[in-house]
Amino acid sequence: MNLLERYEEVIGHREMVRLRHLADRLAGRRVVHINSTRTGGGVAEILRWMVPLMNELGIVTRWEVISGSPDFYRVTKAFHNAVQGLPVTLKKADFELHYEVNRENALRMDLDADVVFIHDPQPIYLPAFLGANRVGRFVWRCHIDASRPQRDVWKHLEAAMAPYQAAVFSMAAFARPLACPKFIIPPSIDPLSDKNCPISEAERLETLGRLGIDPERRMLLQVSRFDRFKDPLGVIAAYRLLKPYYRDLQLVLAGGPADDDPEGAEVLREVHEQAGDDPDIKVLMLPPDAHRTINALQRSATVVLQKSLREGFGLTVTEALWKGRPVIGGACGGITLQVHDYHTGFLVHSPAGAAYRIAYLLRYGEKRLRMGRTGHEFVREHFLLSRHLRDYFTMLLCLEHPGNGALIV
Ligand code: UDP
Repeated sequence: MNLLERYEEVIGHREMVRLRHLADRLAGRRVVHINSTRTGGGVAEILRWMVPLMNELGIVTRWEVISGSPDFYRVTKAFHNAVQGLPVTLKKADFELHYEVNRENALRMDLDADVVFIHDPQPIYLPAFLGANRVGRFVWRCHIDASRPQRDVWKHLEAAMAPYQAAVFSMAAFARPLACPKFIIPPSIDPLSDKNCPISEAERLETLGRLGIDPERRMLLQVSRFDRFKDPLGVIAAYRLLKPYYRDLQLVLAGGPADDDPEGAEVLREVHEQAGDDPDIKVLMLPPDAHRTINALQRSATVVLQKSLREGFGLTVTEALWKGRPVIGGACGGITLQVHDYHTGFLVHSPAGAAYRIAYLLRYGEKRLRMGRTGHEFVREHFLLSRHLRDYFTMLLCLEHPGNGALIV
């Protein structure tokens, strides 16, 4: 069975026909995706499945990664924070470094394609250096919440936007006024990947055993990079409020490093400090390819948390819902698209709020299971890769045939 036939089993025949129909109209186009890391974080997670699937559908697709010094990633991490509204202090030299590293990458990289997707702020200046060599259309794919950015950082990024033909945001609330057309396309997950495919009970139990997690006891789980916006300390605080009443409760915080995230070590240290010597809190530092481990953890959780304070989309939420787990999510960003109170989980604003909703789900097992089933179907309908690609293909056709502005906001 080839890849497309396997997808058809999950998404259904009709959905596959619609996808192929759009893809046929783009057959032979050359597309390149560019981001800043091959491992860690949601963008790499999406590109890993998207690139092979686009190729199977007849669109000649490549994935390239920019490279830079640790100092470059310090600056781009500060951009990331500033775009999402966290105040940062940057010097003129920092902006120049971003510009310079983009210039070096533009000279080194093969950007010859019909469409170049530039993901997030890190490689945003690449088209500025191509001059007359720029042949394809450039699309800026912004995965983060850019609605209230720090002014100096946004001015720097906006100055890079002139060569772009379109910008894509995950939800309308994230978009900024820009000269080019904007499209709203939420991300998605791959149901066949190691992260999301069904796994055997034996593998699940073996994974828990290997990590020292008791399969008989109820477990709270948050999977995310060790990043302040993901609020791991808030998760520990919520667990601490519940623990006196639910003695069997265990908490697992699973994360890993991302090449483009230099702040992780510091946040991890704070997490260890807060966790102290509580044997029922497991802080797991996972390698970048621990997809099946995360899959097993998500399937083993009683309740999944994603208590973010700011969030792009929150693929971890999608992954947990797909596995039939209700999610307690911070009321921000794309989490609000996915978590709906009493249907797929609960949105919360504080550790106390999270503890209150977790207690509800621990108490009412039947409701927990029902919300899990609703979450699974909700993801099938809205957040699987077929819908995501369908939106991208429609956008590319709109760009090829300007005047058809159906999807443009
Ligand atoms: N992830 C992972 N290992 C980790 C932490 C996260 O593979 O240690 C994955 C997670 O399963 C999800 C993605 O990285 O697929 C994170 O995407 P999300 O949108 O939740 O957050 P981002 O990191 O992009 O802010």
